[in-house]
Amino acid sequence: MTDPAVRPTYCTVDLGALTRNITAIENHVGPASQVMPVLKADAYGHGLALVVPHLEGLGVGRIAVAYVEEGIEARRLGFTGIVHVLGGAVESQIGLFLDHDLTFTVPSIDKLVQVATIAHQRGMKPAVHLKIDTGMERIGVHYQNAHAFFEQAYACDDLVVEGVFSHFANADSADLDDARRQLERFVGATDLLGDLAEPPIRHIANSGAIAQLPESHLDLVRPGVLTYGLYPSRETVRALGVEPVLSWMSTVVYFKVVAADSSVGYGSTWAPSRQTRVVTLPVGYGDGYPRAASNSAEVLIRGTRYPVVGRVCMDQTMIDIGDGTAYNGDQVVLVGSQGQQSITVEDLADRCGTIPYEILTRITARVPRVGVG
Ligand SMILES: *Cc1c(COP(=O)(O)O)cnc(C)c1O
Repeated sequence: MTDPAVRPTYCTVDLGALTRNITAIENHVGPASQVMPVLKADAYGHGLALVVPHLEGLGVGRIAVAYVEEGIEARRLGFTGIVHVLGGAVESQIGLFLDHDLTFTVPSIDKLVQVATIAHQRGMKPAVHLKIDTGMERIGVHYQNAHAFFEQAYACDDLVVEGVFSHFANADSADLDDARRQLERFVGATDLLGDLAEPPIRHIANSGAIAQLPESHLDLVRPGVLTYGLYPSRETVRALGVEPVLSWMSTVVYFKVVAADSSVGYGSTWAPSRQTRVVTLPVGYGDGYPRAASNSAEVLIRGTRYPVVGRVCMDQTMIDIGDGTAYNGDQVVLVGSQGQQSITVEDLADRCGTIPYEILTRITARVPRVGVG
């Protein structure tokens, strides 16, 4: 546990819950589909330095990140399995993939030629996954042109096509027609590859599709937010028993009585209509606690929910405890459980007009992540 005397605001990362979530996903998809946890954006804000060694210890054979520099960091942290970089990369980064044994996403014929050329010069034969665009219009060869792309990739002696993949735009929606259309395009485009002596790993399912589109699980699934115990949207069917991994704590550092009509914080956006008790927390938007939480989010103190009042500052946030009790040094839960109450990342995201992904990935580096469980 971090020393609260040093840093009274911190996140706990429940590594036991992380293990149970991965098991729950494995059980849900069954033995035919490999599970590749997605660790981009500092493991969705949970801390790559905690999550990578834990997954290595569990024997997870394959992880995904978004950027080459995240892949390098995963290697530096000792990950020995496959590290798949999902995003696009520029030509100057290709050498880094080869230096650190990272698995490429190849989203165009141009990139295929660049990777092959550099691999040839170095006498290496890297593994690549070909990216097909079936309706996201982000990166990837349009599914209508996939055939020529596959032919050229398979004809190339300087790389190994290990996988072929695509990405859903609407797998977290209540209406899955669009996702089904994307899946149909992907399966149609990659059908013939199944006849190859060594067929590629085919994958398309993110968390939404893992939960609610079983026919999309194919050879491998890519759970991001689900790994951390959250669903991608309120609409997504809660099909698996996953539990939140991250909690976010702070501490009461100041207590005062505020008279009626005395405004609290920048811009004087809130004032009590009667005398009340207000406490101050050492956390603010500089820690990633959203400014949009101003006058809208709640926190837990001594098992009771209390509202954030006034504007969230860079480093401090005020809470109206009414007639409640709180003392300096009391633990405050921004996200997590206390007594019978809990505040989920989804609750906070709803209050702030955003999505859980953004709450998690914006928690800044000055908030220590502490492994528990
Ligand atoms: C981020 C990402 C994922 C994981 O998405 P979740 O919704 O968090 O499961 C999977 N695949 C790709 C290509 C991604 O960029």
